[in-house]
Amino acid sequence: MLLLPTTTVGPTQTLESDGLVQVQHLSKEVVHQMKYPIAERFKAPQGEGLYTGVPMAFIRLVGCSVGQGVCTACDTNFEKMYPELGGGLYTTEELLAWAGNYIHVCLTGGEPLDRNLLDLVNTLHGANIQVHIETSGTLSPLWLNHMPDRPWLCVSPKPGYLRDMIEMADEIKVILGGLGDGPGWPTVDNALTWAAEGRLVYIQPRNSVLTIDKAAMDEAITVVSKHPSLRLSAQLHKYLRTR
Ligand code: SF4
Repeated sequence: MLLLPTTTVGPTQTLESDGLVQVQHLSKEVVHQMKYPIAERFKAPQGEGLYTGVPMAFIRLVGCSVGQGVCTACDTNFEKMYPELGGGLYTTEELLAWAGNYIHVCLTGGEPLDRNLLDLVNTLHGANIQVHIETSGTLSPLWLNHMPDRPWLCVSPKPGYLRDMIEMADEIKVILGGLGDGPGWPTVDNALTWAAEGRLVYIQPRNSVLTIDKAAMDEAITVVSKHPSLRLSAQLHKYLRTR
């Protein structure tokens, strides 16, 4: 069964044209057989945040409800499935098999929370895999809120981010200057407030797609040096030239 990226947000929820989510009651077996549209899959050391350097299997889902109209400096290709990069339609079991002996799987995007990932997350957890989710913080799905065994949640707030996603975050990444020029991007002041609340907050420079922006990195270093409650997320993968 195919989950259409433009109309569905997950195996049991359909996004209606008026923006409301309609819950469909599908059996667990049916949900388990559904296929997720994946833009690409790759295995590489995590380049950002607390898990920097940890070998991780990345699964990038197609689609993003924030969009590159907001994030004009977005550095990811999430628009379609790229077969040459491991993209395609995959069931939970196929993704589990692909993860192999990796003990960390990162579900990213695009915006992975545009879909209901409960079956995938539960199945990976059941195989003793730690699941990480990277999100814009603009969606707070019920399935995630109600999970007793939640994935590691990395929130990189984009315009429209939700307060309860900030509160749920295990780590927060603030891109210095944002990835776009419109309103609503988190500031260093926001980062300091969240850090003062006891959150793990990273400042990450706005780099180019494949290369480091030296001036942005210097600025990020200056910010964390001045405010030691914050940490630097350096995007190691752009130094290593991995994805
Ligand atoms: Fe790109 Fe992330 Fe913005 Fe989506 S939320 S457009 S993936 S930077």
